[in-house]
Amino acid sequence: MPLGLESGNRYGLQCPECAQSTFIETRRRVSYTAHCIPYVTRCPWHGCRLVCDCECSSLELLLSERSGDGRAVNSLHYATRADTLRQRCVSGQSWERVRLTLEEKGYYAAPGRLRVRSFHEDFCRVFSAGFEDARLNYIVSEWKPVQACIRAASRADRAAPAAILVLLDWAADEVDCLSTHTVARRSSPVPADIPTSVRSLKRAQWTEHVAGHPKLSRTEMRLSTPALWAWLYRHDGPWLQRHQVPADVAARKRRPAELPPFHKSAMLRGADPRQRCDGREPLPSSYQLRLAYGMTEYLFNRAMESVCGPGRGRELPGARAVFVDRRLQFAAAALACRGLPENTALLAREARLRVSTVRQFLSHS
Ligand SMILES: [Zn+2]
Repeated sequence: MPLGLESGNRYGLQCPECAQSTFIETRRRVSYTAHCIPYVTRCPWHGCRLVCDCECSSLELLLSERSGDGRAVNSLHYATRADTLRQRCVSGQSWERVRLTLEEKGYYAAPGRLRVRSFHEDFCRVFSAGFEDARLNYIVSEWKPVQACIRAASRADRAAPAAILVLLDWAADEVDCLSTHTVARRSSPVPADIPTSVRSLKRAQWTEHVAGHPKLSRTEMRLSTPALWAWLYRHDGPWLQRHQVPADVAARKRRPAELPPFHKSAMLRGADPRQRCDGREPLPSSYQLRLAYGMTEYLFNRAMESVCGPGRGRELPGARAVFVDRRLQFAAAALACRGLPENTALLAREARLRVSTVRQFLSHS
């Protein structure tokens, strides 16, 4: 799954109705698998929006937006389908079912050859209303993750992301059969026979062009004479392949994947998720903040690079002083409420800090 699209820790998500009925039954908090499936924002049994009652799933909730009816309907349908697939799924069978349905509806030109363009258009039409989870909207609009999933599902040695298989299963059921007229119109025309003299002339032009520009790369060569390149590509592909400039693979550098924009806006919108029930200031720890967002270390660092928000700031010495000060103010107020004297030992115990930390802070203030 591309960077920023993977689902984080979902243990803290609950359906209010499920939580209430389970607590009455068992006197415990229960986390259901159906609520932990990536990108699920609604309970498949009650239709309620999931709520977060544990800080570890804060980011999951931040990335899900309450919005129009179409998105709510699609999100509930996604949750129901995902849960059904989870119950009936045995590894490998989901894609086989999708493939057979698409084959029946005419989306395969030949065994193993999906009509990608037609399927992409119809796939987008099925999900045009969108979803409540920002990542699911991104997956549907970008198409690249879906294509990667199709490639992975078609191979025996790769695992395809289950969430995208749910979308493919859904789309396969909803799309209409491709008409033979559409298929015929979209298929490429049969190439006509090319006179040998024209072919020889084009080949000679290309050879001369390559010899005249020894420093150009393969792409630059193509762009410097696009019409000639396109003609040879269409009518004399195998010869062109043999007479291309060698590809400079070593010079190609891999760029780090772009972080989807919704992470930055979600983290800027959300406050520090680590709100303690006793009201004390949470520890100034980047590690704990990352756990509270339920993010991987790499994703957290990339997101912090773009946000420059609380994660890094809280590791600074200045921020530590602010943290100790807030804890001590809170402890002093609590001691005053109970009519207890305000000495270092009591303050330290109330603030859950070491006595040496309190002494050091008071001596510098
Ligand atoms: Zn429920």
